[in-house]
Amino acid sequence: MAGTINRDDIAAVREKAPLEDIVRERVALKQAGVGSLKGLCPFHDEKSPSFHVRPMQGHWHCFGCGEGGDVIAFIMKADGLPFADAVEYLAGRAGVTLRYESGGTRGASDGGGGRRRLLEANRVAAEYFVEQLLTPEAKTGRDFLTGRGFGKDAAAQFGVGYAPKGWSALLEHLRGKGFTEPEIEASGLVSRGQSASGQSARLYDRFRGRLVWPIRAVTGEVVGFGARKLYEDDEGPKYLNTPETALYKKSQVLYGLDLAKKDIAATHRVVVVEGYTDVMACHLSGVTTAVATCGTAFGADHVGLVRRLIGDITTVPPNVLAQPSIRAKHPEIIFTFDADDAGQNAALKSFAFEPGFLSQTFVAVAPDRLDPCELRLERGDPAVVALIESRVPLYEFVIKAALAGNDLETPEGRVAALRAAAPIVARIKDGAIGPEYARRLSGWLGMEPAEVMRAVTTAAKAGRGAAQGRPDVTAAVAVGPDAKDPVVRAERLALEVLLQMPEKVEPAWAAGIGPETFTVPQYRAVLDGIAAAGGIASAGKDWANRVADEVGEVLAPLVSELIVSPVPQDRPSEMGRYVKSVLSRVQDLSLTRRIGEVRGRMQRIGEGNEGFQAAFAELVALEGERRNHREE
Ligand SMILES: [Zn+2]
Repeated sequence: MAGTINRDDIAAVREKAPLEDIVRERVALKQAGVGSLKGLCPFHDEKSPSFHVRPMQGHWHCFGCGEGGDVIAFIMKADGLPFADAVEYLAGRAGVTLRYESGGTRGASDGGGGRRRLLEANRVAAEYFVEQLLTPEAKTGRDFLTGRGFGKDAAAQFGVGYAPKGWSALLEHLRGKGFTEPEIEASGLVSRGQSASGQSARLYDRFRGRLVWPIRAVTGEVVGFGARKLYEDDEGPKYLNTPETALYKKSQVLYGLDLAKKDIAATHRVVVVEGYTDVMACHLSGVTTAVATCGTAFGADHVGLVRRLIGDITTVPPNVLAQPSIRAKHPEIIFTFDADDAGQNAALKSFAFEPGFLSQTFVAVAPDRLDPCELRLERGDPAVVALIESRVPLYEFVIKAALAGNDLETPEGRVAALRAAAPIVARIKDGAIGPEYARRLSGWLGMEPAEVMRAVTTAAKAGRGAAQGRPDVTAAVAVGPDAKDPVVRAERLALEVLLQMPEKVEPAWAAGIGPETFTVPQYRAVLDGIAAAGGIASAGKDWANRVADEVGEVLAPLVSELIVSPVPQDRPSEMGRYVKSVLSRVQDLSLTRRIGEVRGRMQRIGEGNEGFQAAFAELVALEGERRNHREE
């Protein structure tokens, strides 16, 4: 039993811990009258600030949700800590030494799991990894960094380290520093093996032979790590992160936020990139507001985290869109996406966020599909800055993606493009911005605004019908497309099979299935989720949940729906044949569709013109593929 903390010491913590600084680490505050500050409440969802702080009195209160208290209460609530842990954390920051009444000491003796000990273990591990980066063994790691344009100083600035190959190097180091086995296990830095008899066996290092990036909370404390594979014989995933622990919740951390938070608050802008090296490249290039999610998609918790730092969210009036110089004064969340399907799916998923957030969301697509790290390496720092400056509003990005692939030179192409884009415009829930995009769409298509408006209105009505009265964006995205369409149905059955009975799928049957197999974007996103969850080869326990996790919360209901859909075949002896036929059919449909597309393109190009030969070669290849497929 740990001792209780001396009362005078608690009072000293209350007095010395800087409430204003501590709140500012999580919430952007502005002046609200004499001696009072306000910002967006971190404890409930709001768009105009009702969270007030009085630094002189050491108190805070939210008029929206009624929460309030002193600095200790703030930390307890913000970090989900028990009282004693919150006091210890604040004492550490304020330099107050705590005395314990009944002589007990907390931490090492309390059985592990105490937040302070976990933070300490992560801090010690981070230091250890940094030292290891200098060893001869870590040469591959140093070469990896150098090859991506990161020298010694960059590695030091971001605290990049190296986890040695041995199975227990860090484990022994932590033991040597006095950490108990339960503490080490609770930190997520080690895993526990299984012996042949199925009993739990010894502990071993989770990260072995990898480059490691410390992931810090907004306060700057290390709460976990992201580790990249370096060696061919490493059978683990390319990136491996700390598992969920008392400290590390992947939906609530953003890599780089500790470094970026000041500039995010000052510029009202945040740049969301894909990986650790992209964050480094951005910061080193001068884009100091860059962050990345750690092994998960950008979700609602991240939105909350970011918007509290950016400040109030106010809807951008439509005329502002036409005046880029004014636009910069409004909050901007900029995502860097690939120009390919994956990027478009990511954009589609982000449609789930609320309209106020969406109208401030921008997309920057790098030339030649380079990520920010590659871009900096090949074209230098200014190219990274230029990439971010080239951002376009999310809505524009998604609409233009829908137009792509249609030949806008022909009337048929323009009508097809309008059909593809109108439902997207209809989905824009921000009342002022929807009509603005309908006008812009008419410009991009070269069609009469009235005609485009009609198409948007029709799409909006159809969308409402499909969504069964659920008017929000989430429903519109998550609801499946027309199930009567035979192609849509075939695609759906294929996903049901992949999700419901992966063990029945022989690798050869699924070999030809890729994103291009599917016409429905949501289904393509589910297939991406299957791939991200490790592919059907890694199915097994928790398969469906893992896929649902990967697709993000908007599409997760669709995954659930696909999983519970009754399969038309219920005789076990026939199941294998059924699975094969379903997967074969969707591939055949896809090949036939693509053959038709290439034939159409060849007709438009005309024999003897540039590009005809390439299209013809593509046609031959696709027809060969379909022949092989049908003979199997
Ligand atoms: Zn509140």
